[in-house]
Amino acid sequence: MPEDNSKDQANRDQPEHSASAIFVEMMRQAAARANPGKPVPEADSAGNGTPDFSASTAGTSTDGASEISLKPDAAAPEVRRIRRRLLLRRPHPASMTSGFLGTIFVVVVSTALVATLLMFFVNPEYVNPAVVQGLQLESEAIIAGASAGRPTPVQTPRWLRRIGIVSGHRGKSASGARDPGAICVDEDGNSILEEADINFAVATRVVASLESMNYAVEMLDEFDPRLNNYRADALVSIHANTCYDFGEYVSGYIVAISEARPAFGADAFLRECIAENFGAYVPLERSYNLTDDMTDNHTWRKIHPLTPAMILEMGYMLADKAVLTEDPDLLARAIVDGILCFMENVNRPSSQREPGRHPAGYIIPAMVTPTPIFGR
Ligand SMILES: [Zn+2]
Repeated sequence: MPEDNSKDQANRDQPEHSASAIFVEMMRQAAARANPGKPVPEADSAGNGTPDFSASTAGTSTDGASEISLKPDAAAPEVRRIRRRLLLRRPHPASMTSGFLGTIFVVVVSTALVATLLMFFVNPEYVNPAVVQGLQLESEAIIAGASAGRPTPVQTPRWLRRIGIVSGHRGKSASGARDPGAICVDEDGNSILEEADINFAVATRVVASLESMNYAVEMLDEFDPRLNNYRADALVSIHANTCYDFGEYVSGYIVAISEARPAFGADAFLRECIAENFGAYVPLERSYNLTDDMTDNHTWRKIHPLTPAMILEMGYMLADKAVLTEDPDLLARAIVDGILCFMENVNRPSSQREPGRHPAGYIIPAMVTPTPIFGR
């Protein structure tokens, strides 16, 4: 209950009256209200003149305080003080509840303290020897496993692990126009093959496959607003390369990460996982014709700095047209195996067969839960 301290201070400066005199004054006021007709005797020694006793008699609340209620400005200071004291003394529901909770708190804390103290006096042989041995073996296994780089007993469930799949050029371009990506045209200049369609056919299959494994998968547009500060365990952007006629045979798939990411970090490991698995399924060679659009892709500047990300150019739309259009299931399966390599540490790149840092350089990121190597 908020108290007016300045008022209290003012009261303290007033001359003290005896408690009995104040009590008599209160009784007198109560009597005056009980018999409003009777004339009120003069106020005594206080010298404040006759207080206004026309305080409300009807419609007042039924609590004890109102029994002696007066117009606040009219009450003698000592009466106000007493009334306030009476109000303070009355137990109210809030303090009873907090008192009850306080009691429970004290009981719980002291019980915990006593139980802890008593533990010092418990004979170790009191505990079942089988339980002791079990705990010992368990902790030894965990320590041995950790030092040997073996799996920890608990894995993060897959539905808590997020994978983003960008279907290249899907949705509107940055300027808001339709974005087919690269296109192949016939002699009349009509579009006969669009990159966005190739990418989407593969991306939908990748998403469906990963979803069937219970990962939290998101299909993203090329300029998806969700890419801003995007957080995921892995982000793969799926593309196909230009249909431009270079005048020579230009073929192959390309993998790239942001040039801003460490050369041997998680992104690089994801890139190698995708590259090796894609190469194992798809009859194309790995090409190293990286462009700025791959290493400085707009996506890399948007996503969260801790999201491992890579871009895959599955092949050239002119030379590799058959591979890109005839079997999207195969392309999707290759990408899924590459993602599993990164997420589950299976289907590992040949340079990554051993746990920890390989002489070839790549560091297996801590977020990848080590699991037994199944071979390929
Ligand atoms: Zn593209």
